[in-house]
Amino acid sequence: MKPPVFDYIAAASIDEALALLEQHGEGARPLAGGQSLMPALNFRLAAPAVLVDLNTIDALAGMEVAADGSVVAGAMTRHRFFETSAMIEQRLPIIHHAMASVAHVAIRNRGTLGGSLCHADPSAEWPALCLACDAEMVLQNRNGTRRVRAESFSLGLFATALGPAELLVQVVFPAWPQERRWGFQEVARRRGDFAIAGVACLVDTDAHNVCTGARIVAFGVTDRPVLLLDAAAALTGRVPGESEVQEAAHRARAALACRADHHASAEYRSELVEALTTRALDQALTANGTSRYG
Ligand SMILES: Cc1cc2nc3c(=O)[nH]c(=O)nc-3n(C[C@H](O)[C@H](O)[C@H](O)COP(=O)(O)OP(=O)(O)OC[C@H]3O[C@@H](n4cnc5c(N)ncnc54)[C@H](O)[C@@H]3O)c2cc1C
Repeated sequence: MKPPVFDYIAAASIDEALALLEQHGEGARPLAGGQSLMPALNFRLAAPAVLVDLNTIDALAGMEVAADGSVVAGAMTRHRFFETSAMIEQRLPIIHHAMASVAHVAIRNRGTLGGSLCHADPSAEWPALCLACDAEMVLQNRNGTRRVRAESFSLGLFATALGPAELLVQVVFPAWPQERRWGFQEVARRRGDFAIAGVACLVDTDAHNVCTGARIVAFGVTDRPVLLLDAAAALTGRVPGESEVQEAAHRARAALACRADHHASAEYRSELVEALTTRALDQALTANGTSRYG
């Protein structure tokens, strides 16, 4: 189908975009990569009167490493940049790796970090990765900016903490400690499809391989990505081996009431959470760390 009629305005600055969003109220929507918004228009699932294009705002693009080592990414940074950047491979390897699971190259060339986070599809990789990395969202409206941690940004199916006439302008990824290992696993029906279920994990260890902290996130299984604190606690303070990984995976499954839809039953998703947690932790503790577990 063709989209309904809409006005199109290319904003030259964040201030202009915010003024337009405020002026047109509910009828206006920001346009980022258009990879979710334009299909929604074509299917007549959305009918905004005005699209405010963010692609013309230089201040929303680009990325820098702050003095404290955190990576500050503009909301309009494309998925493909994260996939191909040597700096991201070095500083945020889980993100570099996971990008290959986001749709297809053509979509990754257009789709943006901010667009994915604001769209808030529970099966999308970005909200889960930001939660695993404990990222902070920088939101801006006409009154100024505010920061929201990833765990408070995704509020449910296609719902976020964004207020009216507010833009996501940056995402701040804290610097990684030296001894951080990571794992990322998902199951999708075909390569490039949204995940039926996925797990992202970070495991921090000391010089003696004792786990000093872990963040395990499941996505695609409930209405938003979920930080699995009880599962992480099965690793913390221990040298994680097979039994700790099994216990963490068991706790991950127990913590979630998985959803059912036409892609998969709730029971299948629960099985996947346990299996993918095991795989992601195995990956973290064997392939992506500085020493082997056990
Ligand atoms: C065939 C297909 C397969 C896909 N598979 C996957 C997949 O496997 N995994 C995955 O994660 N994604 C997938 N996607 C979605 C893709 O990653 C999109 O790029 C992403 O969801 C939206 O990003 P966008 O930049 O295109 O945003 P847009 O589509 O332009 O916008 C999405 C929404 O966010 C709002 N918005 C955008 N930017 C901002 C901002 N800075 N501040 C406030 N609001 C904003 C828009 O108004 C809109 O409501 C797929 C898409 C297609 C078409």
